[in-house]
Amino acid sequence: MHGAKVGEFREVPGPESKKFLDRAGKSLAKTTVSSDVIIDGGERIRLFDVDGNEYLAFDAGVSVANLGYGSSQNNVWKAIEETYKKGAPLYIGTDRFNPEAIEAAELLKKITPIRNRDSRVFLASAGTLATETAMKAVLKEKFRREKGEISPESVIFLHCTGSFHGRSHGALVLMDKRKKERWEGYNLPYESVNLPFPAAKKLEAINEFISQIENIPEQMIKYIGGFFIEIVQGEGGMYPIDKDALKFLDAWCVKYNVPLIVDEIQTGFCRTGSFWAYEQYGITPDIVLFGKAGGGGILPVCGTIIREDLSFKALGEHSATFGFDPIFATAVQETILEMLDLDLDTHSLQMGNYFMHQLEKEFGLKPWIKEIRGLGLMIGIEFCHPETKKPFSQLRDIFWRECEKYGLLTLPAGINSANPSMRFEPPLILGEIDVDIAMEILRIAAKYCDEFLDQEL
Ligand code: PLP
Repeated sequence: MHGAKVGEFREVPGPESKKFLDRAGKSLAKTTVSSDVIIDGGERIRLFDVDGNEYLAFDAGVSVANLGYGSSQNNVWKAIEETYKKGAPLYIGTDRFNPEAIEAAELLKKITPIRNRDSRVFLASAGTLATETAMKAVLKEKFRREKGEISPESVIFLHCTGSFHGRSHGALVLMDKRKKERWEGYNLPYESVNLPFPAAKKLEAINEFISQIENIPEQMIKYIGGFFIEIVQGEGGMYPIDKDALKFLDAWCVKYNVPLIVDEIQTGFCRTGSFWAYEQYGITPDIVLFGKAGGGGILPVCGTIIREDLSFKALGEHSATFGFDPIFATAVQETILEMLDLDLDTHSLQMGNYFMHQLEKEFGLKPWIKEIRGLGLMIGIEFCHPETKKPFSQLRDIFWRECEKYGLLTLPAGINSANPSMRFEPPLILGEIDVDIAMEILRIAAKYCDEFLDQEL
């Protein structure tokens, strides 16, 4: 089958994709999938659909395929194969330890600075479980410390507007409340307070964030379970946090003994220019969450790295069937080693700066682009009406679909009624040439948007 190459026009969905979409509608549960591209293969930073069309994967499955696809994942595959050949059972469960899990935990501890240094690693198989693990750990410790004075009903978690930490019941407590379909109607287990996210350069939000924290009454503090924060909000619209605001939060958490839980599920594994994004901000969290790229884009390896004294104490307080197995542990260990070996942290910063520079040069003055922002290879473009400057999600969607028609895969982010954005999170192994090719497609999509606006306005 000969489909279109990257940069060439193709119908989306193509004839084969249409057939699969029809079957998907009758067999798969509705989730967030809104793209009509049905993926059938991948190699490095390219994906192929069932019609044989080629795409540049500038979303990397929302930061899962940081190492890319196919041959660029070979070393992780090989390590898994060696574990298998050595005779290790691939799955053991959590009731017996194995050397691979211990080695992976030791490596994760070594590369993850945690307040007061020592930590314990819990391995899981979904980001939302990493979040639940952190919530349970801080609450167990709190209930132990307060000796029955605090009940689960009185616990409050702090988080920010625009936040996303998962979709299970506990994690939904921390969900940005503007997308009601995500959380409304469920009985959420804890109270939460969301503060404005102190995005870099957003002075009003930064000041408001600091003032709201300063004004938290002392008598409320003992009810706070922890503060969950993303260093770059992904789902919320690709906003890097302000450095001073994060340092302020860190110091406040230390002063009042409130656990600072940094969610690196999307930002971790070299995505933003350091292994963990928080390493660029001069803070040390109490708990770090990771996921997505943790299994090299091959296995769903996620986890929670917990300050030792906050970690679980009694047998059975927490556990999971999958996560600590030799196969998961091998995948995470090899993924880390491969990323460090390839210097993907430095590379993603360089590539991110190059991409950002091109975007600003090309689109910085477009009246329908409100902002271009990001850190490393986590970059977003926000769309607005060219005259009123109001959010313009329809234009973002036109732009997105046009990119797909010429072979560039990206994803939306942000809230349609507030900050409709397009996000770029390509595999970290890309080169300048790939950015240049993506830019050609973005120019086509931008021209189409200009023409659309000429007709409509
Ligand atoms: N936290 C962040 C920052 C995320 O981006 C996501 C997923 O998009 C999650 C948590 C939840 O991860 P999962 O979908 O693996 O449960």
